[in-house]
Amino acid sequence: MAFPLPSSLSPSRFSSFKSCPLSFRFSTIDRLPEEPSEPAVKGTTVHRALELLYMEPPAGRTRDRAAETLEQALEEMSTDSDYVGLGLSEAAAERFAKDCTGMVDRYFGLEDPAKIHPIGLEIKLQADLGSLKVRGVIDRLELDADGELVVTDYKTGRAPRDGQVQERMSGVHIYSMMVEKVFGKRPAKVQLIYLGRDPQIIEATTSERTVAGVEKKVGAVWAAVERACETEDFRPRTSVLCNYCSFHEFCPEQGGDPAKAAEVAVALGRV
Ligand code: SF4
Repeated sequence: MAFPLPSSLSPSRFSSFKSCPLSFRFSTIDRLPEEPSEPAVKGTTVHRALELLYMEPPAGRTRDRAAETLEQALEEMSTDSDYVGLGLSEAAAERFAKDCTGMVDRYFGLEDPAKIHPIGLEIKLQADLGSLKVRGVIDRLELDADGELVVTDYKTGRAPRDGQVQERMSGVHIYSMMVEKVFGKRPAKVQLIYLGRDPQIIEATTSERTVAGVEKKVGAVWAAVERACETEDFRPRTSVLCNYCSFHEFCPEQGGDPAKAAEVAVALGRV
């Protein structure tokens, strides 16, 4: 019996399939619960602080206001199940807040938020690409000085090394394609704003050629997902990401049993 196809995919799910098809199966097909990760929860907190900052008129987007929006974001997160699930001690919670403060501070070293003209924040989009529905949330859609659209994605993880840049840009190029399909206008530029220890902005222009390339890559990944579901063949791919993977007990590379994942999914009513 084939695995059911996911009804839609986000850019992060595409990336998950490419990183490790077996982990993709556990998270997206079996929908098994995953341990919250501290870096991901920090990312959510900083994204929320910047979203709140951009709700201010341009002159109000100051460092002082950003300190307040971060405080609000931390307050909101204090009851979030992922944050609570981290089980942070008082000292670890202080370090968590300090790391978030560092990222918001570094943001101000990269951009002057008073000069940005956002037209949408945390925009939920869905677009059809053949039989596939692509969905995602765009951190910030803005107009540049020439009135052209720009798609911005904040990143709180490590900035890419030279050979990784193209791969890391693929998600934001998919967002750009979705914007064009939904709003009928192609963004002129996409950018990643890295707020970790090596803060930087990585940007790229878009063109008919880049959009065609994105559609081709997305189509190829989707075809591979369809094949894997049909043949029930989701192979493990070991990498440094195994250190952060929640599925060791089901992964043969870690001495686990994939068949148990299906049993757990059924027991949890996930399939
Ligand atoms: S432990 Fe590694 S190989 Fe196994 S499922 Fe997780 S990411 Fe894939």
